[in-house]
Amino acid sequence: MVLIREIFRRFWPYTRGVRALFMAGVALAIVAAVCEVGAIWLFGLITDEVLSRRDLGAFWIPALIWLGLSVVAGLVSFAGAYATALGAQRFLLRLRDEVFSHVQTLTPDFFDNRRLGDLMARLTDDIEAIEELVGSGLVRLLTTIASVIFFAGAAFYIRWDLALVTFAMIPVFLFVSKGFASKFRGAAARERLSNGAMNSVIEESLANQSLVQAYNRQETEAGRLHAEGSIWLRANMAQAWLSALYGPVVQVIETICLLVIIGFGAWEIAAGRLTIGGLLAFAAYLAYLYPAVQNLGQIALTVSEAAAGSDRVIEILRARPAVTDRDTAAPMTSRSRGQIDFVGVDFTYPNRTSPTLRNLSFSVGPGELVVCTGPSGAGKSTLTKLLLRFYDPTAGQILLDGVDIRDLPHRALRDNITVLQQENLLFSGTVRDNIAYGRPGATMDDVVRAAVMADVHAFIGTLPQGYDTPIGQRGRLMSGGQRQRIAIARAILRDAPVLVLDEPMTGLDSSTAARIMEPLRRLMSGRTTILITHDLRLIPETAHTIVLGAPRRHGRMRVRAFRRRGVTPRPV
Ligand code: ADP
Repeated sequence: MVLIREIFRRFWPYTRGVRALFMAGVALAIVAAVCEVGAIWLFGLITDEVLSRRDLGAFWIPALIWLGLSVVAGLVSFAGAYATALGAQRFLLRLRDEVFSHVQTLTPDFFDNRRLGDLMARLTDDIEAIEELVGSGLVRLLTTIASVIFFAGAAFYIRWDLALVTFAMIPVFLFVSKGFASKFRGAAARERLSNGAMNSVIEESLANQSLVQAYNRQETEAGRLHAEGSIWLRANMAQAWLSALYGPVVQVIETICLLVIIGFGAWEIAAGRLTIGGLLAFAAYLAYLYPAVQNLGQIALTVSEAAAGSDRVIEILRARPAVTDRDTAAPMTSRSRGQIDFVGVDFTYPNRTSPTLRNLSFSVGPGELVVCTGPSGAGKSTLTKLLLRFYDPTAGQILLDGVDIRDLPHRALRDNITVLQQENLLFSGTVRDNIAYGRPGATMDDVVRAAVMADVHAFIGTLPQGYDTPIGQRGRLMSGGQRQRIAIARAILRDAPVLVLDEPMTGLDSSTAARIMEPLRRLMSGRTTILITHDLRLIPETAHTIVLGAPRRHGRMRVRAFRRRGVTPRPV
């Protein structure tokens, strides 16, 4: 129950704006229930006044009212269901949007430590489970409680002693459903977990299909999915078994109740305390009452499922980004000049014991190039992550225009830096969308100008729909060199004063690499550039070079940063 309170405390605020729809859903469902109570009462009346007395004349008025009631009940049920569904969908949309926005505030280390498929399951199925509890589930709960009160009240009104006998069975229903719910909760948690695992396998396998096929590992991948699918099957079957058993168990209890009513009712009729119409109406009220009580049990199962899902969403919402803006962070008033200084920077990843960077110091000014090199794993990409403030240094400072970057809003900091990554990340839109990603609101002219400077305009002209050609999932319909030049166009369009080129030639053959040299030079021109590369051919003779990493001694990494004697950073 504590968990339910926690779920509502967390997620109820997201229902603002749709609460009126939920309230309308509840109110209309209550009106429908009242109409049904009236209709059943008329049914009893017709039995006694028309059928028992064989008096057709008494039939028409109650029949017309009954018809009227059922039309009204139908209309309000429809409107209530519609209002509830609209409220539920809007709530779901907001919840998903906000959880996704929160996820996007988390620094990339959050994603590095998680499986993407599992995160996707949390953002879809688990969020739906929460809606089914906090949104439509709550509406269902309130309307069911109202139905129970009305139908029980009507049954009580007809024959209170008979009603007392039959109500005595209600705790049995609740007891049974409580027992089922606790078992269901465990099964639901297992199902959620394995759903995430299964999604992860599908996501990983599909994302790496070319590797899978090139290595002929299709069977392995199918086997992995089958293994996760089998776990999912067992978890689902545990749920299905419980759901399937719940119905028949309740039905047996219901039959016992019905027999008790008929027996008791026959005795009451014989004693003259009840008419046949009264008994039939009584039985009809119970026929509505018991499913409503059963519904309460079902809601308990929904609660169990939602509890399992919301645990997983709450875990995401509790995650905090590794870096946040300081309260004192003052907004940047103008574009940065691009002066970067690393001053005695040490860095150890949160889940590591040995430092990745130690006492790293270097400076690079506007329009200058600094090359950062060293063996793989030396910490070259880590340097980029620190500059973008995906992490903060363990010691030392990184300055932009002389200001510690921890004193800048991180969005403003990142607006001043463009990173060209090893695998240039493209989205599955058109060529134009991908270039314009660098600057929201860029015009077609801006896009074309950037493409021309990146030497990719002519190539785009050969595509079937030019700039409107879809580039395929993550740009797979293009070669590495073409993707890289599109990424350069995007970086040119972004026009940030600081540029980090992280292994820009990786994976490119020498002629393709030569082809992007010129566009790269245009991109670097006038900007502060940090070129990360282990490819010594890329390093200009005169470049200011930082060498990271070195032989490991006693398991510790030594970081060396030096300025080639007598050589100042080279303007580009
Ligand atoms: P480089 O770019 O020079 O190849 P990286 O900066 O990527 O090296 O990595 C430096 C070291 O930090 C490596 O030993 C790597 O295993 C470790 N590392 C990188 N990312 C993480 C991370 N998110 N968590 C823990 N260790 C990491």
